[in-house]
Amino acid sequence: MDDLAKRIAAGDRRALARAVTLVESTRADHRGQATALLEKLRGTGRQALRIGLSGTPGVGKSTFIEAFGMKLTEAGLKVAVLAVDPSSARSGGSILGDKTRMERLSRAPGAFIRPSPSSAALGGVARRTREAVALCEAAGFDVVLIETVGVGQSETMVAQMCDLFVLLLAPAGGDELQGVKRGIMEMADLILINKADGDLKATATRTVADYAGALRLLRKRPQDPEDFPKALAVSAVEGGGLDTAWDEMQALAAWRKDQTWWDRARAAQAAHWFREEVQNGLLARLHEDADIRSMMGALADEVAAGAQTPDAAAAAVLDKLR
Ligand code: GDP
Repeated sequence: MDDLAKRIAAGDRRALARAVTLVESTRADHRGQATALLEKLRGTGRQALRIGLSGTPGVGKSTFIEAFGMKLTEAGLKVAVLAVDPSSARSGGSILGDKTRMERLSRAPGAFIRPSPSSAALGGVARRTREAVALCEAAGFDVVLIETVGVGQSETMVAQMCDLFVLLLAPAGGDELQGVKRGIMEMADLILINKADGDLKATATRTVADYAGALRLLRKRPQDPEDFPKALAVSAVEGGGLDTAWDEMQALAAWRKDQTWWDRARAAQAAHWFREEVQNGLLARLHEDADIRSMMGALADEVAAGAQTPDAAAAAVLDKLR
């Protein structure tokens, strides 16, 4: 682990890839090694700008990440891309699994791309992603992009591990604006209307105005400067708006650092994940015990049949922990 930690801290991408594989493993001995490795690397104290990026399939996430990532690497920044795809657990596929995705970026010397693992539970994906982010930060990456598909739960999870949350949307008429859930709008720091090119350009401009209006109606968050959250038009294919988007992200990050929101948000996130880990760990411990497992199965049936209240049944299980 010492050697692996040294190589990661020196920015060795192969060592980083190995370490990500290690944190993805569910084997008990690997888990122990992963924990030890992360503990060793904690001391590097490096921080990347963590950007969450969400959008429905087809909106242009991979095209955007490729174009945006290339821009950043060409500017000398090191960029890591991680993916969270809850559907991959079911389908066995993954949003980054297709080798043709982000082909240029994957060859860029300053880039590291890692597809979503096909792990069963969202809790497992959350931990793996957080740990992969920590590894990328220790390896000296400047920007970590976390891509997720537009599915409520995974978006909330990704927002809980990012400094900035970006929502990618397609140009659309005013009616479709309603289709974006309010909760997701409220998480966004930046809404990018992609495909602002060719025939879609005029629609994109109107869509930006629609969302800018909708964002103004949201309750003001203390962690936002005056003019945030913002809506902007971009074209991942032609590159339009990408520089502006990056400028806005940097401006927001700088403001939050200056106003201490950055540190406060990271502290709150760490506390959140601590509680999450305790909850998941307790549940896992309950499931490890065969007697409790079968008791939980029987109680679940009773609750489903209306023979017990959920609270009473849960209390009976929790009594076993004493
Ligand atoms: P993802 O599923 O969100 O990752 O979307 P993709 O990046 O695979 O893009 C879906 C489709 O939209 C592809 O055919 C892209 O070529 C197209 N696309 C992506 N970005 C743009 C853009 O900026 N302009 C236009 N016109 N098409 C785009």
